[in-house]
Amino acid sequence: MRNADEMLEIAAARTSELAAPGLSPRPRRRVAVLACMDTRLDLFPMLGLQRGDAHIIRNAGGLVTDDAIRSLSASQRLLGTEEIVVVMHDGCGLHGASEDEFAQALALDGVLPTWRLGAFEDVEATLVHSLARLRSSRELRTREYIRGFVFNPETGALREVDGGAGGPSA
Ligand SMILES: [Zn+2]
Repeated sequence: MRNADEMLEIAAARTSELAAPGLSPRPRRRVAVLACMDTRLDLFPMLGLQRGDAHIIRNAGGLVTDDAIRSLSASQRLLGTEEIVVVMHDGCGLHGASEDEFAQALALDGVLPTWRLGAFEDVEATLVHSLARLRSSRELRTREYIRGFVFNPETGALREVDGGAGGPSA
């Protein structure tokens, strides 16, 4: 059985627990979390979140891509969030990956994507760069509360990078 079949069965058996009648789509804690899609990041217990509290935006790396900015812009402008937390992690699949080899593999399949993989060598430097990009993104209505964390899946520790320094730069 493919996962999708099992997922449908599970959901069908849990409708009473999954239903959220009357719960607002506007995040209760007015925060959006941008995080890596890595399986080891269990964001709800990590950040003390409950359903309804936050928008969760995930992609490979937890990188500030154009599409992440699209989602964060919608989160702030349409649904009232004011704070952004970015969560990257040690041992990321993009850490040390080869941008060139990935592009070559795609080219062999006849694809020349408009996006880059986003491979990086230094998680903390990458996060600092991401935070700076968010702080200069006018797509966002509120840029005062943007912080960045790195999770270590081996120890469970979450550390802050950049100290939340610097407000909107533009
Ligand atoms: Zn990752």
